[in-house]
Amino acid sequence: MNIVLMGLPGAGKGTQADKIVEKYEIPHISTGDMFRAAIEEGTELGVKAKSFMDQGSLVPDEVTIGIVRERLSKSDCDKGFLLDGFPRTVPQAEALDGILTDSGRKIEHVLNIQAEMEELITRLSGRWICKECGTSYHTKFNPPKVEGKCDKDESNLYQRADDNPETVAKRLEVNMNQTTPLLAFYNAKGVLTNIDGQQDIDVVFKELDAILTGNR
Ligand SMILES: [Zn+2]
Repeated sequence: MNIVLMGLPGAGKGTQADKIVEKYEIPHISTGDMFRAAIEEGTELGVKAKSFMDQGSLVPDEVTIGIVRERLSKSDCDKGFLLDGFPRTVPQAEALDGILTDSGRKIEHVLNIQAEMEELITRLSGRWICKECGTSYHTKFNPPKVEGKCDKDESNLYQRADDNPETVAKRLEVNMNQTTPLLAFYNAKGVLTNIDGQQDIDVVFKELDAILTGNR
């Protein structure tokens, strides 16, 4: 059960990741957690990664890949793992294949949760926050009773720059351009499945589950 989970921000990847690791009892390995653990443990690669992060630079591939190698060699990955946020590029995917081949393993499933751009923008850009009490609202999922006003104290709601639709659209586009070659790479290997992430959360999980159990 060696899985790579993919999907643009807002597609519902986090929710499905939680459900998969719970059912299959495999570790959820996200890039952020992996870096944090390596830094906390003070491994040689963790120390290296931290020095780049402290400078505000990107951690180079050789360090990231080394950290992935160490993480995947731990015994909790014997039954499988769910990778989330890695690989991001084709060279990283090739390096991952190398790591797994060395230990007689391979990626069995790449699950890509999809949603329309417009839907993702709606999901990601609808957040509004009260300046007074910090309560957050969402225009679609959790709207305030009066548009633009906090339910609790009637203060004006504001939107963070990161949450405005244009910024969100740009972020999604960058992300999509980055993952397109990676999806093609896994598609060519015959391990990629696309899932419609605009369905009900439970329906999405049912489909994922059917793929993982070989019933689809
Ligand atoms: Zn408020």
